[in-house]
Amino acid sequence: MKRNNDAKRLPKDAENGISDGDAAQIAAAFAVLADWVSGRELVFRDERTPYRVLVAEFMLQQTQAKTMLPYYQRFLSAWPTVQALAAASKEDVLAAFAGLGYYRRAGYLHETANRIVRVHGSRVPADPDTLLSLPGIGRYTANAIASIAFGKRVAAVDGNVVRVLARLLRKPFRRSNQQDLNAVRTIAEDAFALLGDTVHAGDINEALMDLSATICKPTSPLCSTCPVRAHCLAFAHGDQEKYPLKPPAKEKPVTTVSYLLLEQHNGFYVRRRRESLLKDTYEFVRLASIEDAPELPAIALSIGKVTHVFSHRVWKAEFFYARLPDTFVQENDGVLRIGSLDYHLVGKEQMKQLPFASLFKTALEYARQTKTQNMTPAANEH
Ligand code: SF4
Repeated sequence: MKRNNDAKRLPKDAENGISDGDAAQIAAAFAVLADWVSGRELVFRDERTPYRVLVAEFMLQQTQAKTMLPYYQRFLSAWPTVQALAAASKEDVLAAFAGLGYYRRAGYLHETANRIVRVHGSRVPADPDTLLSLPGIGRYTANAIASIAFGKRVAAVDGNVVRVLARLLRKPFRRSNQQDLNAVRTIAEDAFALLGDTVHAGDINEALMDLSATICKPTSPLCSTCPVRAHCLAFAHGDQEKYPLKPPAKEKPVTTVSYLLLEQHNGFYVRRRRESLLKDTYEFVRLASIEDAPELPAIALSIGKVTHVFSHRVWKAEFFYARLPDTFVQENDGVLRIGSLDYHLVGKEQMKQLPFASLFKTALEYARQTKTQNMTPAANEH
């Protein structure tokens, strides 16, 4: 056990939000959770091979289990081993994440598979600190993999787990405060140490994720069905929703963008994004506004708007559609240069294999509806 009740450590513990007896209270709750989770159906972790756990944990980053499940199953059918994934093209891996959001993790997962094959003899490392050194793996994911796949006694703590422990202990922890995350991780790992081999840490980490998603929800927690309500101080006081402490609401910056779906022959002009946001996914012709559209022999129709919410910003996108005459020839090897960016004509069949974020898929659907309805050209003639 890493901590004890040494009196000399109490002031520091108190500063960190940890009190005497916290670990024992949480250990009692964990013992109950171990029984509870054994009766739960966790389909996406049916076979806990380290590779499957690795893929699941990447896909669960910022995505709910029920959303990721079909993606996870398709992904494992396409690449059943870490070697198969390492040998795949990065583009195919990104395409497998299209629609799930937060695409950077797909590139990281591919890089991690390559590192595991090249550096770790095709074996997913069991040590949490070694896992932490791999691309796209933070402390939460490292501890989740190490505990679920290898039974290491480490806690996977995110804002949701902070919420559950803040309520159980009735402590003013904050969801996204690093010091509070560390304090909760320390308490949970002390509880694992107290429980020894009587529980599997991975089971408890899964139970906490499941409990926080289905019962101990941010608002209106379902305490009457909660397996650990007998150990919950906030429930006893009836003030569950006061915990964790809420940070002041921060407004996400809003960016207005315009895109031109420029069709020619049987395809569209697209480019691969190099920017960190949606990196390596494809986009249509980007314009600061439709007034900046280049001189092209085409008429642009406004076909719809999409508000896309990222984790830290919002895009308000307006989409336009135009068809270039087939006789319009690009002098630059078929590359259309607009501003400083190059766009390539890609056939519709090939586009299905490329990763597009969901807002561009929506825009394609708008374009299809526009053509079906044979809309009259409106504004934005240029
Ligand atoms: Fe959360 Fe309610 Fe369970 Fe406490 S009793 S852990 S507040 S669901």
